[in-house]
Amino acid sequence: MTDSPPLERATDARPSNLLATPYRTHTCGALRITDANRTARLSGWVHRRRDHGQLIFLDLRDRHGITQVVVDKTDEPDAHAIASRLRSEFVVTVEGEVAPRLPGTENPRLPTGAIELRAKTVTILSESKTPPFYVNDPDAPIDESLRLRYRYLDIRREAMASRLMLRSRLVQAIREVHHANGFVEVETPDLIKSTPEGARDFIVPSRLQPGTVYALPQSPQQLKQLLMVAGVDRYFQIARCFRDEDLRGDRQPEFTQLDLEMSFVDEDAVMRFVEGMAVEVCRVTTPDRPVQESPFPRFTYDEAIERFGSDKPDLRFAMELVDLAALWADAPSGFRVFDDALAAGGRVKAIVAPGLGGATRKEIDELTERARRFGAKGLVWLALDESGAVRSAIAKFLGDDGVDRLVARVGATPGDLILVVADTAPVTADVLGRLRAELGQRLGLADPQVLAFCWVHRFPMYQWDAELGRWDATHNPFSGVVPEDEELLVTASGDPARPSPEDPAGRARALQYDIVLNGWELGGGSIRIHRRDLLARSFALQGQTEAGMKEKFGALLEAFEYGPPPHGGIALGIDRWAALLTDQTNIREVMAFPKTQSGTDLMLEAPSRPEPSQLAELGLRFVGTPGRPATASAGPADSADPADPADPVAPPAEA
Ligand code: ASP
Repeated sequence: MTDSPPLERATDARPSNLLATPYRTHTCGALRITDANRTARLSGWVHRRRDHGQLIFLDLRDRHGITQVVVDKTDEPDAHAIASRLRSEFVVTVEGEVAPRLPGTENPRLPTGAIELRAKTVTILSESKTPPFYVNDPDAPIDESLRLRYRYLDIRREAMASRLMLRSRLVQAIREVHHANGFVEVETPDLIKSTPEGARDFIVPSRLQPGTVYALPQSPQQLKQLLMVAGVDRYFQIARCFRDEDLRGDRQPEFTQLDLEMSFVDEDAVMRFVEGMAVEVCRVTTPDRPVQESPFPRFTYDEAIERFGSDKPDLRFAMELVDLAALWADAPSGFRVFDDALAAGGRVKAIVAPGLGGATRKEIDELTERARRFGAKGLVWLALDESGAVRSAIAKFLGDDGVDRLVARVGATPGDLILVVADTAPVTADVLGRLRAELGQRLGLADPQVLAFCWVHRFPMYQWDAELGRWDATHNPFSGVVPEDEELLVTASGDPARPSPEDPAGRARALQYDIVLNGWELGGGSIRIHRRDLLARSFALQGQTEAGMKEKFGALLEAFEYGPPPHGGIALGIDRWAALLTDQTNIREVMAFPKTQSGTDLMLEAPSRPEPSQLAELGLRFVGTPGRPATASAGPADSADPADPADPVAPPAEA
C-alpha cells in the first residue's frame, strides 16, 4: 500500500487552493490583494456583465464568492470577443493576472473586492437560457412555486445557498459530537412495517409478494429500540421520516430527524447529553448566536401550561400568565364573566403587554378577534395610560379598589395593556399562550439573535379518546411512566378492557420530554418501558388486544423477551433546527428540494401517474377517488396536485 498524504480540509471559512482542479487555480471567493501579480484561473457562472465597449466587466460567481474580471479589447481582442457574447449564468473559465483594483474602485463588501482578474483568455464551458428569475438579485420578489420549479437556479442564489451550507455544518457538527460521545451511526431501512407515530403511513406495494405492502418509516422508533436490545448501547442516525399528513408551513411529507437512543440511562442522562450536544452544535454552527441559558430550564408540563399557556414556551421574554382567582377568594369580583368562570371551575388569567396601553379601540378589537379565533368567548382588557389611569369597560364592575388590586397583582405599570381571559382551564391557557407568543414577537420582546432552549417534561401519559372510548398515548406508545405513577396504570373498573375518563390512568405522568427552542418544539422523546409486563398493561389501557399488539409491534415485543436493557431516546427535527438557526419560519427554506403544501415536487413533477405496466406488475388497479377519474387508462395525466387554495405554492390547475 502506498501512503497517501492526509487530506487537508477545505472549509467555507477558508475556501483554499485545495479546491484547485484543471478548471481553476482558485475558487471565486479566494483571491486577495496578497495574490496581486499572480496568474490565476477561475471557473464559474456569469453573475453580471457590464459592457463598457473597450472594457467588459464580468462578476464571476461560484458558491464560494464573486470575483470581478476585466477584459480589455486592446490587450486581449480574442478574449474580449468571447466576453461580448456572454450572458447571465453562462459557465466560463477565465485565466489572467490578479491585479489590485484602481484606487477608489475597491468593493469593501466583497472579500475579493480589493482585486480583479485581468483576463487573458475566456472560455465558454456552457451556455444558459435567460433564467426565469434574477439569480443575481437577492431582493427580487420571486413566486415560491417558480423557485421550487427551478430549484437548481434558486440554490444558486446566495440566500438559499448559505442556508444549505449552514445545514451542512449543522449535520456535520451533530455527527462529530455524537461520535465523540460513544454513539454508533446506524442506518435503518426505509422499507419496513408500519411504526405508528400518530400519522398516516406511506405504503409501497411489494412486487415480489403481490398483495402486500411495506410502510415507509414514520420514524425509526422500533428499530432503534431493537438496536438497544442488540447491545449497540448508543445509536444515532440522521434519519429520513415519512408521514402522510396534511401539510402546514412546518411540515413536509418527508423530513429529517436526528434520531438517537441510549441504553442504561434515565431521563436526566438523556437530557444532559442532548443539552450539551445542542449547545456545542449551535456554537459551531452559529457562533454569533448566544444560548440564553444552560443548563436548559426544565418545566413540568403542568408548570409550562400554568406559566406560559403552552408546552413550547418562548423563553426569550417573560410576559407570564398571572392567575387572578386569588383576588376574589373572599368575595366575587362583581364582573359576571369572571365570577361565572370561577364558579364553573374555570380560570381567570391575565398577561401584560408592555407599552400597548395606548392601543386604539381598533387594535384592541383585533386582539379580541384573535382571541375568539383561538377559542375564547371574549377578551377583557384594561389599558393604563402614561399617568397610570385605567381605561376599561369592566372598571365600573370591579370598582376602583378592584381595578387597583388587579393592576397590582399582574404587576402592570403605566403604558401597559392587561389582557384577561376567563374560561375553562385549557381554553384560558391556550388563548393567553397564543396571544403571549404573538405579542412577544410583535412587540419585539423576543431577541432574534438569542437561542432560548428549555425542556418540558412530565407530560400526561394518556389522553382520553371520547370517540373510541379509550386512552391514547399522548406521544409514543412505548413511553415509560414516572415510577411513582406506575400504580395509576389501572382503570376504575379494575378491568383494562373497560376504561373510563375517570380512570387513575388519566393522572399518570409519562417519562417523556420535549426540547423547545424559541417557542418551537424542536424534538421529543422518552424513557421507554422495557418491562414486558408494564408494556402489556400500558397497551391494554390503550385498547390494544394481545393479538393487535403482536400485529403492530411483534418484533419489539418478542425482542423484549430476550433481555432488553433500560433505554430511552429522543428525536430532533433537523429541518426545524436549521430553520430556527437561519431565522426562517418555513422549513422549505432549509430543504434543497421540498414539496409544496399539497405534496407536489414541482421540479420533478412528482407524484406522477405510474406506467400501466408498473401497476400490472404490482397487481394494482386505481379505482378512482371521489371527484377524480379512475386512472387505470393511460391518458394524459390529470393534475396530480389539484390547486389548493390554501397552498401559497400550489401549482396552477392544469387546463
Ligand atoms: N420516535 C419519536 C418521534 O419521532 C421520538 C422518540 O421518542 O425518540 O417523535
